[in-house]
Amino acid sequence: MPETVFEVDTDAPPDEQPDPIVNRWHPDIPPAATVEPGEKFRMEFLDWTGGQVNNDDSANDIRDMELDPNHHLSGPIAVEGAEPGDMLVVDVLDLGPFPDHEWGFTGIFDLENGGGFLTDHFPEARKTIWDLNGVITESRHIEDVRFPGCAHPGLLGTAPSHELLEEWNERERALIERGPDAETAVNHETREDVPPLALPPEPNGVLLGGMDDDEAEDAAEEAARTIPPRENAGNCDIKNLGRGSRVYLPVYVDGGKITTGDLHFSQGDGEITFCGAIEMAGWMDLQVDVMKNGMEKMNADYPLFKPGYMDPDFSSYVVFEGYSVDEDGTQHYKNANVGMRRACLNAIDYMTNFGYTREQGYFILSTAPVESRLAGVVDLPNTCVTVSVPQEIFEFDIDPDTLEDGSGADDRGEVAKTS
Ligand code: ZN
Repeated sequence: MPETVFEVDTDAPPDEQPDPIVNRWHPDIPPAATVEPGEKFRMEFLDWTGGQVNNDDSANDIRDMELDPNHHLSGPIAVEGAEPGDMLVVDVLDLGPFPDHEWGFTGIFDLENGGGFLTDHFPEARKTIWDLNGVITESRHIEDVRFPGCAHPGLLGTAPSHELLEEWNERERALIERGPDAETAVNHETREDVPPLALPPEPNGVLLGGMDDDEAEDAAEEAARTIPPRENAGNCDIKNLGRGSRVYLPVYVDGGKITTGDLHFSQGDGEITFCGAIEMAGWMDLQVDVMKNGMEKMNADYPLFKPGYMDPDFSSYVVFEGYSVDEDGTQHYKNANVGMRRACLNAIDYMTNFGYTREQGYFILSTAPVESRLAGVVDLPNTCVTVSVPQEIFEFDIDPDTLEDGSGADDRGEVAKTS
């Protein structure tokens, strides 16, 4: 078994872990460990919320979640000999939940605390718990659905340089200051009603690994949030980055300093509920090589991904279409987000034909291996988005040709609500 270079304890709070948790990007966070190129190593992970969600039937924990301290990540791991301009070649060898922790969760966040992609339609906190049985998962909160997961890290990346960090902060601050334009604000009464467009550095709840307190106080004011993906990969949420995947990460600081986590047992394209995958605590085995001058060799100042071969193998899909016209009939200009929303809402409506609640439909789209595509981006004024739902994940037939009257009355259970 590979040596464990980062350990966690799922029974302890995030600030009392065997190795110190990280929840921001900053170049000066000291490495928790250093590995040799080519060496296999194991890392352990809290779930992205740092253990704020329980295996129970109440969504109060989702409603009341503290969001500032997320994501709870493991690292940084330095790679011996890596220097700025190199590429790290990261192999995802294996990953899974802890043997005594074989469950995961998915949340719909309250409109007032986090929200989500369809938050106008699903404003209240909800939760589903998933049992993880080998590669198969099912949920007591959504009956008659069962599927294999392609477990993957939702987030992995290298540390930014000071210059890159400054660039991130400047451009995101400029967006926040610019505020919503007419297109962004179209479904709101006034532009002031639109939530902030980005998340600036937030010292509240900051965890900077093993950085000493004096230094950490200043660093907390500039360390970047881990929510968006950026030039270091970061929170890319690519659902196919399972076992056998290879990721090329640009190196911006000595050692590269890999930080990773946010393990997902499975996710649909888009991770639409926001806490949208089957989130889990667990472990991952990695192997990292250094490609010297890799950024110049590949002519790339961005990460590259080669997903593995372990995707679930489905053959039949029901495909839903959405385009850039929103629910009240407003025509948008080539807006892919609106197209995605409409495709998802259509898929959710369709699932109610079989007795699922709309909330269950939302959870299924977010967690099962659902494929989404930009089908067309050139046909003025509508961008066409498709959402493809695999038929084989259901224990009954969802084929439109076999739809019968009255099947909408079937009871498929209920998701966890707040009290
Ligand atoms: Zn996640």
